Amino acid sequence: MRNMIQSGSIVVIAEHFQGEIRPVTHELVRFAEALQEVRPTGIQILVLGEKVEGLAKSLAKTTGKDVLGILAPQLTRYNGQAYKTVLHEVLREHPPAYVCVAHSSRGSDFAPGLAMRMGAACITGVSSISVQEGVICFSRDIYGGKINADMVSSSKTTVLTVQPGSYGPTPKNDQAGGKVYLKSVVVVPQASTTLSTTAFQTSDLDLSIARIIVSAGRGIGEAENLQLIRNLASVLPRSVVCGSRPVIDLGWMTYDRQVGITGAIVTPDLYIACGISGAAQHAGGMKGSGFIVSINTDPMAAIFNLSDICIVEDLMTFIPVLLEKMAEQRN
Ligand SMILES: Cc1cc2nc3c(=O)[nH]c(=O)nc-3n(C[C@H](O)[C@H](O)[C@H](O)COP(=O)(O)OP(=O)(O)OC[C@H]3O[C@@H](n4cnc5c(N)ncnc54)[C@H](O)[C@@H]3O)c2cc1C
Repeated sequence: MRNMIQSGSIVVIAEHFQGEIRPVTHELVRFAEALQEVRPTGIQILVLGEKVEGLAKSLAKTTGKDVLGILAPQLTRYNGQAYKTVLHEVLREHPPAYVCVAHSSRGSDFAPGLAMRMGAACITGVSSISVQEGVICFSRDIYGGKINADMVSSSKTTVLTVQPGSYGPTPKNDQAGGKVYLKSVVVVPQASTTLSTTAFQTSDLDLSIARIIVSAGRGIGEAENLQLIRNLASVLPRSVVCGSRPVIDLGWMTYDRQVGITGAIVTPDLYIACGISGAAQHAGGMKGSGFIVSINTDPMAAIFNLSDICIVEDLMTFIPVLLEKMAEQRN
Protein backbone atom coordinates (compact mmCIF):
# COMPACT_ATOMS: atom_id res chain seq x y z
CA MET A 1 0.00 0.00 0.00
CA ARG A 2 1.40 3.43 -0.86
CA ASN A 3 2.81 5.74 1.77
CA MET A 4 0.20 8.44 2.47
CA ILE A 5 2.58 10.87 4.21
CA GLN A 6 2.84 14.19 2.35
CA SER A 7 5.95 16.37 2.43
CA GLY A 8 5.46 19.45 4.58
CA SER A 9 2.42 18.05 6.41
CA ILE A 10 1.68 17.73 10.14
CA VAL A 11 2.01 14.16 11.40
CA VAL A 12 0.55 13.02 14.72
CA ILE A 13 1.97 9.88 16.34
CA ALA A 14 -0.89 8.14 18.16
CA GLU A 15 -0.23 6.71 21.61
CA HIS A 16 -1.96 3.47 22.61
CA PHE A 17 -1.69 0.81 25.28
CA GLN A 18 -3.40 -2.56 25.65
CA GLY A 19 -5.61 -2.05 22.62
CA GLU A 20 -6.87 1.41 23.65
CA ILE A 21 -6.02 4.79 22.15
CA ARG A 22 -4.75 7.01 24.97
CA PRO A 23 -6.71 10.26 25.48
CA VAL A 24 -3.52 12.28 24.88
CA THR A 25 -3.73 11.27 21.20
CA HIS A 26 -6.92 13.33 20.84
CA GLU A 27 -5.16 16.28 22.47
CA LEU A 28 -2.36 15.89 19.91
CA VAL A 29 -4.92 16.06 17.10
CA ARG A 30 -6.35 19.24 18.66
CA PHE A 31 -2.80 20.66 18.87
CA ALA A 32 -2.19 19.72 15.21
CA GLU A 33 -5.39 21.54 14.23
CA ALA A 34 -4.21 24.66 16.09
CA LEU A 35 -0.89 24.40 14.24
CA GLN A 36 -2.73 23.95 10.95
CA GLU A 37 -4.48 27.29 11.54
CA VAL A 38 -1.13 29.10 11.44
CA ARG A 39 0.58 26.75 8.95
CA PRO A 40 -2.11 25.52 6.52
CA THR A 41 -1.23 21.97 5.43
CA GLY A 42 -2.61 18.44 5.77
CA ILE A 43 -2.76 16.43 9.01
CA GLN A 44 -2.10 12.70 9.06
CA ILE A 45 -2.11 10.33 12.02
CA LEU A 46 0.28 7.40 12.38
CA VAL A 47 -0.42 4.45 14.63
CA LEU A 48 2.24 1.76 15.07
CA GLY A 49 1.88 -1.75 16.43
CA GLU A 50 1.47 -5.41 15.71
CA LYS A 51 -2.27 -5.31 14.98
CA VAL A 52 -3.49 -1.73 14.74
CA GLU A 53 -6.04 -1.91 11.94
CA GLY A 54 -8.95 -1.53 14.39
CA LEU A 55 -7.29 1.39 16.16
CA ALA A 56 -6.55 3.08 12.82
CA LYS A 57 -10.19 2.74 11.73
CA SER A 58 -11.53 4.08 15.01
CA LEU A 59 -9.12 7.05 14.93
CA ALA A 60 -10.09 7.88 11.33
CA LYS A 61 -13.74 7.81 12.37
CA THR A 62 -13.44 9.86 15.56
CA THR A 63 -11.04 12.50 14.20
CA GLY A 64 -12.03 12.69 10.52
CA LYS A 65 -8.30 12.58 9.65
CA ASP A 66 -6.43 10.15 7.39
CA VAL A 67 -4.67 7.47 9.40
CA LEU A 68 -1.73 5.27 8.46
CA GLY A 69 -1.55 2.04 10.44
CA ILE A 70 1.97 0.65 10.48
CA LEU A 71 1.87 -3.06 11.11
CA ALA A 72 5.04 -4.59 12.47
CA PRO A 73 5.08 -8.00 14.18
CA GLN A 74 8.04 -6.81 16.28
CA LEU A 75 5.95 -3.96 17.70
CA THR A 76 3.78 -6.17 19.94
CA ARG A 77 5.16 -4.13 22.82
CA TYR A 78 6.49 -0.59 22.76
CA ASN A 79 10.22 -0.37 22.08
CA GLY A 80 11.88 3.03 21.62
CA GLN A 81 14.54 1.85 19.19
CA ALA A 82 12.01 0.06 17.02
CA TYR A 83 9.76 3.16 17.01
CA LYS A 84 12.65 5.39 15.92
CA THR A 85 13.69 2.98 13.16
CA VAL A 86 10.18 2.52 11.77
CA LEU A 87 9.21 6.19 11.96
CA HIS A 88 12.43 7.32 10.32
CA GLU A 89 11.87 4.81 7.52
CA VAL A 90 8.27 5.90 6.97
CA LEU A 91 8.87 9.66 7.22
CA ARG A 92 12.17 10.14 5.42
CA GLU A 93 10.81 9.87 1.87
CA HIS A 94 8.34 12.76 2.31
CA PRO A 95 9.56 14.67 5.38
CA PRO A 96 6.69 16.34 7.24
CA ALA A 97 7.00 19.90 8.56
CA TYR A 98 5.97 18.79 12.06
CA VAL A 99 5.83 15.50 13.92
CA CYS A 100 3.60 15.79 17.02
CA VAL A 101 4.32 13.38 19.87
CA ALA A 102 2.90 13.28 23.43
CA HIS A 103 5.23 14.62 26.14
CA SER A 104 4.67 11.37 28.02
CA SER A 105 7.23 8.84 29.24
CA ARG A 106 6.96 7.10 25.87
CA GLY A 107 7.11 10.26 23.75
CA SER A 108 10.05 11.61 25.75
CA ASP A 109 11.77 8.28 25.12
CA PHE A 110 11.69 8.25 21.31
CA ALA A 111 11.11 11.85 20.11
CA PRO A 112 14.65 13.29 20.58
CA GLY A 113 16.28 10.23 18.98
CA LEU A 114 13.83 10.35 16.08
CA ALA A 115 14.69 14.03 15.52
CA MET A 116 18.40 13.13 15.50
CA ARG A 117 17.87 10.46 12.85
CA MET A 118 15.77 12.79 10.70
CA GLY A 119 18.17 15.72 11.05
CA ALA A 120 15.19 17.59 12.49
CA ALA A 121 14.78 20.10 15.32
CA CYS A 122 13.21 18.85 18.54
CA ILE A 123 11.19 21.13 20.83
CA THR A 124 9.91 19.35 23.92
CA GLY A 125 7.15 20.04 26.47
CA VAL A 126 5.25 22.46 24.19
CA SER A 127 2.15 23.93 25.84
CA SER A 128 1.03 26.57 23.30
CA ILE A 129 1.57 28.03 19.84
CA SER A 130 1.80 31.70 18.88
CA VAL A 131 2.88 33.72 15.86
CA GLN A 132 5.35 36.52 16.57
CA GLU A 133 6.38 38.80 13.69
CA GLY A 134 5.21 36.17 11.23
CA VAL A 135 7.19 33.35 12.85
CA ILE A 136 5.58 30.33 14.55
CA CYS A 137 6.69 30.10 18.20
CA PHE A 138 6.25 27.19 20.57
CA SER A 139 5.97 27.93 24.30
CA ARG A 140 7.20 25.66 27.02
CA ASP A 141 7.92 25.89 30.73
CA ILE A 142 11.49 25.74 31.95
CA TYR A 143 13.02 25.64 35.45
CA GLY A 144 10.12 23.62 36.88
CA GLY A 145 7.50 26.01 35.52
CA LYS A 146 9.08 29.20 36.88
CA ILE A 147 9.95 30.58 33.44
CA ASN A 148 8.13 30.44 30.13
CA ALA A 149 10.28 30.12 26.99
CA ASP A 150 9.22 30.81 23.39
CA MET A 151 11.13 28.68 20.89
CA VAL A 152 11.30 28.82 17.09
CA SER A 153 12.55 26.16 14.73
CA SER A 154 14.74 26.83 11.73
CA SER A 155 14.63 23.23 10.48
CA LYS A 156 12.60 21.84 7.60
CA THR A 157 11.17 19.23 9.98
CA THR A 158 10.48 19.76 13.69
CA VAL A 159 9.61 17.04 16.19
CA LEU A 160 7.39 18.51 18.92
CA THR A 161 6.45 16.84 22.19
CA VAL A 162 3.21 18.33 23.47
CA GLN A 163 2.46 18.70 27.18
CA PRO A 164 -0.68 16.68 28.05
CA GLY A 165 -3.43 18.87 29.51
CA SER A 166 -2.50 21.86 27.33
CA TYR A 167 -5.07 21.20 24.61
CA GLY A 168 -8.55 19.81 25.11
CA PRO A 169 -9.58 16.66 23.28
CA THR A 170 -10.72 16.86 19.65
CA PRO A 171 -14.39 17.83 19.43
CA LYS A 172 -16.64 15.01 18.21
CA ASN A 173 -16.24 14.64 14.44
CA ASP A 174 -19.54 15.05 12.59
CA GLN A 175 -17.90 14.86 9.16
CA ALA A 176 -17.12 11.70 7.22
CA GLY A 177 -14.29 9.65 8.70
CA GLY A 178 -10.79 9.92 7.27
CA LYS A 179 -9.19 7.31 5.03
CA VAL A 180 -7.29 4.39 6.51
CA TYR A 181 -4.04 3.18 4.94
CA LEU A 182 -2.11 0.16 6.15
CA LYS A 183 1.56 -0.56 5.66
CA SER A 184 3.44 -3.64 6.82
CA VAL A 185 7.06 -3.20 7.83
CA VAL A 186 9.74 -5.55 9.04
CA VAL A 187 11.85 -4.19 11.86
CA VAL A 188 15.36 -5.59 12.00
CA PRO A 189 16.20 -6.95 15.47
CA GLN A 190 17.10 -4.07 17.77
CA ALA A 191 19.84 -3.71 20.36
CA SER A 192 17.14 -3.99 23.02
CA THR A 193 13.91 -5.96 23.17
CA THR A 194 10.86 -5.24 25.32
CA LEU A 195 10.01 -8.57 26.95
CA SER A 196 6.84 -7.53 28.76
CA THR A 197 4.75 -4.55 29.80
CA THR A 198 2.51 -4.75 32.85
CA ALA A 199 -0.15 -2.24 33.84
CA PHE A 200 -0.05 -1.13 37.48
CA GLN A 201 -2.64 -2.82 39.66
CA THR A 202 -5.55 -0.46 40.09
CA SER A 203 -7.38 -0.18 43.38
CA ASP A 204 -10.89 0.89 44.33
CA LEU A 205 -9.64 4.39 45.10
CA ASP A 206 -11.78 6.74 43.01
CA LEU A 207 -10.10 10.13 42.92
CA SER A 208 -12.82 11.57 40.71
CA ILE A 209 -15.33 11.60 43.60
CA ALA A 210 -12.99 13.15 46.19
CA ARG A 211 -14.15 16.72 46.80
CA ILE A 212 -10.97 17.63 48.70
CA ILE A 213 -7.47 16.41 47.89
CA VAL A 214 -4.56 16.97 50.25
CA SER A 215 -1.45 16.34 48.19
CA ALA A 216 2.09 15.73 49.42
CA GLY A 217 5.21 16.59 47.46
CA ARG A 218 8.91 15.95 47.94
CA GLY A 219 8.88 18.94 50.30
CA ILE A 220 7.48 16.71 53.06
CA GLY A 221 11.06 15.49 53.44
CA GLU A 222 10.49 11.93 54.64
CA ALA A 223 7.83 9.22 54.66
CA GLU A 224 7.08 9.66 58.39
CA ASN A 225 5.90 13.22 57.72
CA LEU A 226 3.04 11.86 55.61
CA GLN A 227 1.19 11.41 58.90
CA LEU A 228 0.89 15.19 59.11
CA ILE A 229 -0.76 15.27 55.67
CA ARG A 230 -3.10 12.43 56.73
CA ASN A 231 -3.97 14.34 59.91
CA LEU A 232 -4.96 17.35 57.83
CA ALA A 233 -7.07 15.19 55.49
CA SER A 234 -8.77 13.50 58.46
CA VAL A 235 -10.42 16.76 59.55
CA LEU A 236 -11.66 17.58 56.03
CA PRO A 237 -14.81 15.71 54.92
CA ARG A 238 -14.68 13.59 51.71
CA SER A 239 -10.97 14.13 51.39
CA VAL A 240 -8.24 11.90 49.99
CA VAL A 241 -4.45 12.02 50.37
CA CYS A 242 -2.49 12.00 47.10
CA GLY A 243 1.00 12.93 46.02
CA SER A 244 3.38 14.10 43.35
CA ARG A 245 5.46 11.63 41.39
CA PRO A 246 8.63 11.72 43.55
CA VAL A 247 6.54 10.70 46.58
CA ILE A 248 5.26 7.71 44.61
CA ASP A 249 8.69 6.90 43.12
CA LEU A 250 10.16 6.91 46.64
CA GLY A 251 7.58 4.28 47.60
CA TRP A 252 5.85 6.49 50.18
CA MET A 253 2.48 6.11 48.43
CA THR A 254 1.04 3.74 45.86
CA TYR A 255 0.83 4.72 42.19
CA ASP A 256 -2.97 5.01 42.24
CA ARG A 257 -2.47 8.20 44.32
CA GLN A 258 -0.16 9.95 41.86
CA VAL A 259 -1.54 13.19 40.48
CA GLY A 260 -0.22 14.43 37.15
CA ILE A 261 0.02 13.69 33.49
CA THR A 262 1.31 10.17 34.12
CA GLY A 263 -1.03 9.65 37.07
CA ALA A 264 -4.57 10.81 37.74
CA ILE A 265 -6.15 13.98 36.36
CA VAL A 266 -8.21 15.37 39.26
CA THR A 267 -10.73 18.20 39.58
CA PRO A 268 -11.74 18.41 43.27
CA ASP A 269 -13.42 21.48 44.77
CA LEU A 270 -10.31 22.04 46.91
CA TYR A 271 -6.72 20.95 46.23
CA ILE A 272 -4.16 21.54 48.98
CA ALA A 273 -0.60 21.20 47.65
CA CYS A 274 1.92 20.63 50.45
CA GLY A 275 5.58 20.92 49.48
CA ILE A 276 4.90 20.62 45.73
CA SER A 277 6.86 22.81 43.30
CA GLY A 278 4.19 22.85 40.57
CA ALA A 279 6.13 21.32 37.66
CA ALA A 280 4.11 21.24 34.44
CA GLN A 281 3.69 17.46 34.66
CA HIS A 282 2.05 17.77 38.09
CA ALA A 283 0.08 20.91 37.20
CA GLY A 284 -1.37 19.11 34.16
CA GLY A 285 -3.14 16.75 36.55
CA MET A 286 -4.63 19.25 39.02
CA LYS A 287 -4.95 22.70 37.44
CA GLY A 288 -8.66 22.08 36.81
CA SER A 289 -9.30 22.01 40.59
CA GLY A 290 -11.94 24.45 41.86
CA PHE A 291 -9.79 26.16 44.52
CA ILE A 292 -6.07 25.63 45.06
CA VAL A 293 -4.19 26.28 48.30
CA SER A 294 -0.42 25.78 48.29
CA ILE A 295 2.07 25.61 51.13
CA ASN A 296 5.67 26.07 50.03
CA THR A 297 8.80 27.61 51.53
CA ASP A 298 9.86 29.00 48.13
CA PRO A 299 7.97 32.23 47.30
CA MET A 300 8.90 31.72 43.62
CA ALA A 301 7.46 28.17 43.43
CA ALA A 302 5.54 27.68 40.17
CA ILE A 303 2.58 26.16 42.05
CA PHE A 304 1.79 29.67 43.33
CA ASN A 305 1.00 30.76 39.74
CA LEU A 306 -1.98 28.37 39.84
CA SER A 307 -3.00 28.94 43.45
CA ASP A 308 -5.90 30.89 44.93
CA ILE A 309 -4.15 31.02 48.31
CA CYS A 310 -0.34 30.99 48.54
CA ILE A 311 1.17 30.16 51.93
CA VAL A 312 4.91 30.78 52.07
CA GLU A 313 5.69 28.67 55.13
CA ASP A 314 7.40 25.49 56.24
CA LEU A 315 4.62 22.89 56.13
CA MET A 316 6.10 21.18 59.20
CA THR A 317 5.31 24.23 61.31
CA PHE A 318 2.28 25.57 59.42
CA ILE A 319 0.10 22.42 59.30
CA PRO A 320 0.26 21.69 63.09
CA VAL A 321 -0.76 25.31 63.80
CA LEU A 322 -3.59 25.06 61.24
CA LEU A 323 -4.83 21.80 62.84
CA GLU A 324 -4.70 23.41 66.27
CA LYS A 325 -6.74 26.42 65.08
CA MET A 326 -9.28 24.15 63.36
CA ALA A 327 -9.66 22.11 66.57
CA GLU A 328 -10.20 25.32 68.57
CA GLN A 329 -12.94 26.41 66.14
CA ARG A 330 -14.70 23.03 66.40
CA ASN A 331 -14.73 23.14 70.22
C1 LIG B 1 7.47 12.38 31.32
C2 LIG B 1 7.30 12.88 32.74
C3 LIG B 1 6.12 12.64 33.38
C4 LIG B 1 5.92 13.11 34.69
N1 LIG B 1 4.73 12.88 35.30
C5 LIG B 1 4.50 13.40 36.52
C6 LIG B 1 3.24 13.25 37.16
O1 LIG B 1 2.31 12.61 36.64
N2 LIG B 1 3.07 13.81 38.39
C7 LIG B 1 4.05 14.52 39.02
O2 LIG B 1 3.82 15.01 40.14
N3 LIG B 1 5.26 14.66 38.45
C8 LIG B 1 5.51 14.11 37.23
N4 LIG B 1 6.74 14.24 36.67
C9 LIG B 1 7.82 14.82 37.48
C10 LIG B 1 7.79 16.35 37.49
O3 LIG B 1 8.54 16.84 36.39
C11 LIG B 1 8.42 16.90 38.78
O4 LIG B 1 9.73 16.40 38.92
C12 LIG B 1 7.63 16.55 40.03
O5 LIG B 1 6.26 16.90 39.87
C13 LIG B 1 8.21 17.31 41.22
O6 LIG B 1 7.56 16.87 42.37
P1 LIG B 1 7.55 17.77 43.69
O7 LIG B 1 6.93 19.09 43.37
O8 LIG B 1 6.94 16.95 44.76
O9 LIG B 1 9.09 17.89 44.04
P2 LIG B 1 10.11 19.14 43.89
O10 LIG B 1 10.08 19.67 42.50
O11 LIG B 1 11.38 18.64 44.44
O12 LIG B 1 9.48 20.25 44.82
C14 LIG B 1 9.45 20.19 46.22
C15 LIG B 1 8.90 21.53 46.70
O13 LIG B 1 8.74 21.49 48.10
C16 LIG B 1 9.12 22.74 48.63
N5 LIG B 1 9.52 22.50 50.01
C17 LIG B 1 10.65 21.89 50.48
N6 LIG B 1 10.61 21.79 51.81
C18 LIG B 1 9.43 22.34 52.21
C19 LIG B 1 8.81 22.51 53.48
N7 LIG B 1 9.39 22.08 54.61
N8 LIG B 1 7.61 23.12 53.53
C20 LIG B 1 6.99 23.57 52.39
N9 LIG B 1 7.54 23.42 51.17
C21 LIG B 1 8.74 22.80 51.07
C22 LIG B 1 10.25 23.22 47.73
O14 LIG B 1 10.37 24.64 47.79
C23 LIG B 1 9.79 22.73 46.37
O15 LIG B 1 9.03 23.72 45.70
C24 LIG B 1 6.96 13.80 35.37
C25 LIG B 1 8.16 14.03 34.69
C26 LIG B 1 8.33 13.58 33.40
C27 LIG B 1 9.63 13.87 32.70
